[in-house]
Amino acid sequence: MTQSADEGFTTRQVHAGSDARAARPRALPIYMTAGFPFDGFDDAAAHFDQGDGFGYTRTGNPTVDAVERKIASLEGGAQALLVASGQAAVTVVLLGLVSAGEHIVCATHIYEGTRGLILDNLARLNIEVDFVDDVNDVAEWESKIRPTTRVLFAESIANARNDLLDIASIARVADGHGIPLVVDNTFATPYLLRPIEHGAAIVVHSASKFLAGQGSVLGGVIIDDGRFDAVRSGALYPHLTGTGRLGGSSLAERHGGLARIAYLRETVAPRLGPTPSPLNAFLVGQGLETLSLRVQRQSENALIVAEWLSTRPEVASVDYVGLPSHPHHALAGRYLARGNGSVFTFTLRGGIDEARSFVEALRVITHMTHLGDVRSLILHPGTTSHVRRTPEEREAHGVLPGTLRLSIGIEDSADLIADLSRGLDASHPPLETVEAVREESGALDVVVAA
Ligand SMILES: *Cc1c(COP(=O)(O)O)cnc(C)c1O
Repeated sequence: MTQSADEGFTTRQVHAGSDARAARPRALPIYMTAGFPFDGFDDAAAHFDQGDGFGYTRTGNPTVDAVERKIASLEGGAQALLVASGQAAVTVVLLGLVSAGEHIVCATHIYEGTRGLILDNLARLNIEVDFVDDVNDVAEWESKIRPTTRVLFAESIANARNDLLDIASIARVADGHGIPLVVDNTFATPYLLRPIEHGAAIVVHSASKFLAGQGSVLGGVIIDDGRFDAVRSGALYPHLTGTGRLGGSSLAERHGGLARIAYLRETVAPRLGPTPSPLNAFLVGQGLETLSLRVQRQSENALIVAEWLSTRPEVASVDYVGLPSHPHHALAGRYLARGNGSVFTFTLRGGIDEARSFVEALRVITHMTHLGDVRSLILHPGTTSHVRRTPEEREAHGVLPGTLRLSIGIEDSADLIADLSRGLDASHPPLETVEAVREESGALDVVVAA
């Protein structure tokens, strides 16, 4: 639109110069716009009828679309749906698969936000759940499936024990019942592990973590394998195979194997509204361009750190699947050929006082609740992420008073070890130091007596 000089000041301030010249940028353009003008009357109708083209950013945006196609490719899925956070991704996928009166079977050891969503929010919608304690126990999964079960849910690598899911085995259980296994692959990333290649039907991520990678934005993504089978599973998901509220053909008729993700894209995400900002989508896409480089370096650093910690007398245990001492280490040989990830816990001898002194002495590793950042991060799960669990549950999850969670970044590993040494010196001061302090304060007899 070219404005003419005789238009008013306010009209020109809105419209003049809005016809950006066409160019072909090398970087992904950020379509920072709420909507898109229609080319013609019929285009508007076609958009509303068949979803052709872009109309409004809540239902589609070219920047978001490009990032979705990149993630679908990296995960080996058919299509991806980007949303505003990992929490939104889990919410959208579960509400797209499960109705009131139906049932979820879920691993016990999962992200607290997911557990809370199921136990507090979905419970109020009369969606039921059973939890599986031993994530690789096929018989336990089988025994908890009911006729109303519509999804199995687990994480590829779970906090805090670093459990590694035997995806192929659990996917077979799901498949036997015609229902999808949904895997939260946040900790592993598609560079290390692609659950769809092992039989999972759907993958979700908190893109806020490794995918974006620099701790600047939140995002979430759902990736579908595109293999929804309406003949086998149609009766379980009538919203995918029945005619819609206004009649016409079903999603399965229109989208075939993509019916599930089409439903999430058309009917769940835009209605609930967790739309990603195009700027955030751009930043996730930018992060993805260096995913393999970061995750490889982070995994290498994590192994160095985990091995070092496991040799230290102040450390009672290190729960890292990359160490031969981990119960799922053999499984890692099968699923994690490129590295073992970089988020894990270790437990200090002593308890909460030692954990506090350790954390407070660190200078390189940041104390915060996040993970998958280029910066190394630390958190005390017992008083933060796992505070809503009972002490018995915490112990079963490997969260003791002296347990700390690390998310290892890309820093020089020698600096990370030096920082962790600093932490150990503070949490477990050598006896001579204790004596020197006490001598200075005139309490020598106490030390001698002890
Ligand atoms: C952080 C996280 C989530 C939630 O993602 P947000 O982006 O914070 O909403 C879900 N699952 C796992 C495993 C996570 O680490």
